[in-house]
Amino acid sequence: MNKKDYYEVLGVQKDATQAEIKSAFRKLAKKYHPDVSKEENAEEKFKEAQEAYAVLSDENKRKQYDQFGHSAFDNNGAGGYDFSGFDFSDIIREAFGGGFGGNFSSGFSDFSDFGFGGFGGNSNRPTKGQDTIVQMNLTFDEAVFGCKKDITLTLNETCDECHGKGGFDEETCDECHGSGQVTSQQQTIFGTFMTKTVCPKCGGKGKVYKKECKKCHGSGTIRAEKEIEVKVPAGVDTGNQLRIKDKGEAGTNGGPNGDIYIEFNVKPHPIFKREGNDIYLDLPITVAQAALGCKKKVPTLYGNITLTIPAGSENGDKHRVRGKGIENVNSFGKGDMYIVLKVKTPQKLTRQQKKLFEELSKTGLDDDKDFKKIEEYL
Ligand SMILES: [Zn+2]
Ligand SMILES: [Zn+2]
Repeated sequence: MNKKDYYEVLGVQKDATQAEIKSAFRKLAKKYHPDVSKEENAEEKFKEAQEAYAVLSDENKRKQYDQFGHSAFDNNGAGGYDFSGFDFSDIIREAFGGGFGGNFSSGFSDFSDFGFGGFGGNSNRPTKGQDTIVQMNLTFDEAVFGCKKDITLTLNETCDECHGKGGFDEETCDECHGSGQVTSQQQTIFGTFMTKTVCPKCGGKGKVYKKECKKCHGSGTIRAEKEIEVKVPAGVDTGNQLRIKDKGEAGTNGGPNGDIYIEFNVKPHPIFKREGNDIYLDLPITVAQAALGCKKKVPTLYGNITLTIPAGSENGDKHRVRGKGIENVNSFGKGDMYIVLKVKTPQKLTRQQKKLFEELSKTGLDDDKDFKKIEEYL
């Protein structure tokens, strides 16, 4: 097929600007639009101009064309650039100065419908199933140590009776002869428009089945309850998502299944607080323990430890215990544990305690630089 050079078709130079290309196409559209033109071969000339414009108005396609010529777009077998997905409605409207009003543009916008079968929109294409997001509640321990949990989901599954085909005894659709699309005519005040639409008989598949599958009623998928075992890795936290590949909704036309995303919601622990992979524990101690020091049994995620609290400890003192935090869900290693001392002042004193505190206070407990600093300002 000997195709004309796109620049020649539009009558512009090789280095024409986009404005020049646009203006050239507008002129040709006015001259050859099949609904208004009295010229010979108007339709053919108009199509040529459309094809040339669709390529040259797109800088990427123009570059491809400049480099490879028409063969740049030969792979679709149509001999030249398939401009069916191109929306000409704006520029056509511009070409006619909007004088044709709404009817014209609405009639013409059907041109973009030609995109069907040209670019995407083909319902024959294998399509991945939808992804599913599931919320999962975990106890603190389940999140920290990991666990296995079964969830039951109702999902679209490939029908096992017809293996997703929807029927038996396949034959080519006689309505569209296997193309999956039909051409219909639409009458407007500007003439007849040809519009390609999805074949109503086969739904775009190009194939029909003599016998419809009774189990899925021809859809190829069935709603089914599916039990899925979720292996929750140690260390997950609220908001983390776990992807389970290929276990979601069935794909269509042989496309892969969707994925399942498990989103975690972790219940807080009564005494341990989590910050990233570190664990914080508030540890109450008495005034006497703080002053005298002591050894104290402390619970951790991994069993009890004995913490040595030195004499003279202050409220808020932090003790770091390495490696007693939470496992890093994305790599190796664990966080740390921080034990934070909370010195508890007794709220209710027995008579004996009160007496002892009174005696204690006479011993010069306030003989300290911090007390003295304030006294300077009194
Ligand atoms: Zn079936
Ligand atoms: Zn059909």
